[in-house]
Amino acid sequence: MVPVTDSAPLDVDLALLGGGGAASLLLAALDRHGVRDLRIAIVDPVRRRGQDRTWAFWGHPDSDLDPLLSASWQQVEVATAARRRVLDLTPLRYAMLRSGPVYDRAADAERRLHATRIVAPAETVRDDGDRVLVGTGDGRGVRAGWVLDSRPRPPTRAGRTTWLQHFRGWWLEADRPVFDPTRAVLMDFRTPQPPRGVSFGYVLPVSDRYALVEYTEFSPDLLTDAGYDAALAGYRDLLGLDPSVLRVREVENGVIPMTDAPFPARPTPRVVRLGTAGGATRPSTGFTFSAMYRQADQVARALAAGRAPVPEPAYPRRHRWMDAVALRALDRGGVGGPEFFDRLFDRNPAERVLRFLDGGTTPAEEIAIMNSTRLLPMIAATAGDAVHRVRDRLRPTRPAPAIPPAVVGSAPTARRAGPPSGEDEVRAR
Ligand SMILES: Cc1cc2nc3c(=O)[nH]c(=O)nc-3n(C[C@H](O)[C@H](O)[C@H](O)COP(=O)(O)OP(=O)(O)OC[C@H]3O[C@@H](n4cnc5c(N)ncnc54)[C@H](O)[C@@H]3O)c2cc1C
Repeated sequence: MVPVTDSAPLDVDLALLGGGGAASLLLAALDRHGVRDLRIAIVDPVRRRGQDRTWAFWGHPDSDLDPLLSASWQQVEVATAARRRVLDLTPLRYAMLRSGPVYDRAADAERRLHATRIVAPAETVRDDGDRVLVGTGDGRGVRAGWVLDSRPRPPTRAGRTTWLQHFRGWWLEADRPVFDPTRAVLMDFRTPQPPRGVSFGYVLPVSDRYALVEYTEFSPDLLTDAGYDAALAGYRDLLGLDPSVLRVREVENGVIPMTDAPFPARPTPRVVRLGTAGGATRPSTGFTFSAMYRQADQVARALAAGRAPVPEPAYPRRHRWMDAVALRALDRGGVGGPEFFDRLFDRNPAERVLRFLDGGTTPAEEIAIMNSTRLLPMIAATAGDAVHRVRDRLRPTRPAPAIPPAVVGSAPTARRAGPPSGEDEVRAR
């Protein structure tokens, strides 16, 4: 790491504002693609380390991420009150990656790239079209050829639908084998459904005694702390897990935007936004990881070839439109969430649905996907969306609502998984 000493702005080729998920994947990609001759600065008031989140994503096996994975599954389960469906994801697989190894690999890359770390917030960004001047909280500033900005930020205006994916997970350790490590539960809609929104549980087993069990809602409003605990305890009971043989080792919380609001990826000529701030979060699911990974690779390849570090859009435009319609149909009550996802998986190969959610399907496949939803509510949502878009054109300055920060992270704990509050018995590992 190069120490910051004098007060002239630090001159670099590339400044990364934000050093979280998107930046960590980018640093690793730059290293992987042999980029060595760039001057790089990373500006973040926090140096990300350890386990503050768990990424679940799907993709092809044998990527450079494989050595970092905690677990992966060829089969996943999608459950509704009516049935439990086991899906074979071949040629894809579902995988779990904890943040610790990702941040460690990024730290190694940062050293090899001789990057400068500025542990302060980036406060102002001024792009004159030739260089970008970044004001930093330590008073020195950075002058960069390109800025890759992944600082969390609200969209530029309110969405036509604004939901949140909000969740709590328990890392559960059991005294005896209780989990099936050969398959993950992707979505289990047998949880009680909220009045407005969708809820589901999921299970990511690392072994027959250790798993991440989460309760998730796609809905406009957050729950209380006790509300998440109660919902998660309810899901644990629904799985038939006996709390007396379980200990909660860590708790993971998160809030991710699900909205058709715009997150401009190129606000000025030399500023590129990545991660959630750049639109990598898929509005209909909150999944973000695969798009961040893809874009990190594209940026690194471009830089290695001496080109501008501008990735392709996180998702094709038509996918963002389809997501806007789906979110609207779910929000306005035209379509029930469990039914919507159940039909998608019932009428399409799982691999096609997952590729669709990553933005990788052809228009013909997308017609098949659209045909698997209920027609009338989707037509109503499409019409409503079109009217709303016209209104937005006529009144483009609708302010954006505050979206809660996308990060709550995870905290280690050690308690019995019985009662859902902090009164639980605390037991050290
Ligand atoms: C608990 C949790 C679990 C998740 N699980 C999944 C999952 O399973 N699958 C999936 O696809 N997605 C998941 N996501 C969504 C998404 O993948 C993550 O939020 C991901 O970390 C987003 O990366 P990012 O770089 O956009 O933001 P972050 O990783 O949040 O990084 C943003 C960085 O900006 C820094 N920052 C803030 N202000 C400033 C400033 N003024 N100047 C400089 N830096 C600043 C922050 O300190 C932070 O390090 C999850 C999110 C959370 C919170």
